[in-house]
Amino acid sequence: MAKIFCIANQKGGVGKTTTTVNLAASLAKYGQRVLLVDLDPQGNSTMGSGVDKHSLPATVYQVLIGHKDIAGAIVSPPEVGYALLAANRNLAGAEVELVGLERREYRLKDALKTVQHQYDYILIDCPPSLSMLTLNGLCSAQGVIIPMQCEYFALEGLSDLVSTIQSLHANLNPDLKIICLLRVMFDMRITLQQQVSEQLKSHFGDKVFDVIIPRNVRLAEAPSYGLPGVVYDPSSRGAKAYLEFAKELIAKNI
Ligand code: ATP
Ligand code: MG
Repeated sequence: MAKIFCIANQKGGVGKTTTTVNLAASLAKYGQRVLLVDLDPQGNSTMGSGVDKHSLPATVYQVLIGHKDIAGAIVSPPEVGYALLAANRNLAGAEVELVGLERREYRLKDALKTVQHQYDYILIDCPPSLSMLTLNGLCSAQGVIIPMQCEYFALEGLSDLVSTIQSLHANLNPDLKIICLLRVMFDMRITLQQQVSEQLKSHFGDKVFDVIIPRNVRLAEAPSYGLPGVVYDPSSRGAKAYLEFAKELIAKNI
């Protein structure tokens, strides 16, 4: 039965999508069966997996509002090694439509139940908000992976996210826990990043994984080729770090 992890942080541009597509591709390289769920109307994970978000017969949107069966909406992009439940801007409408629906927080969870046995990992790329979409992601998952940049304001946002996760754990999803904090876009030369990194460690202990994702231009270039960095340039420093992250995750068997 698949482990279901959300990649979440309500801050924008912190590396959620980069982490999701690269972790999915890395796990696939290690022989894991992976489904990536793009839960962001921006559709960045979709495009970053080589799927054109503008020409999709079915997306996660139809699945959430009950117009389409999940099995019929999942696609298999040729080069990435994982399956994809895609998204595009239609998903923005779900935010409002979900409010009137039954089990509105559990729509994704209910849909995933029918395919969960086919995968080892299901990774959900969340939008930069604590919205109904993110809530659906967090209600489906056993764990949250929080990518973060080691900057001053990152810590401030983190406490909001942690209290949301605690409240969800208490009220809507007792299985939910923080899997790890992943330091991304890290630049060793910047003293502040090292200080914030140390603060993170003293506060969150071994929830802060050992592996650090460096700032690496190959990771940033890869989406324009419709590929995760680990497929686009597996020998780059960024790709190696994500492969190491996947290995750490599998080894810890969380
Ligand atoms: P959003 O909140 O808009 O969904 P996000 O949290 O998903 O954003 P990404 O889209 O993954 O963030 O990353 C933001 C930008 O930073 C992108 O242009 C991406 O290519 C770049 N980026 C992410 N990680 C790295 C890295 N390790 N090194 C260099 N560039 C990176
Ligand atoms: Mg994103």
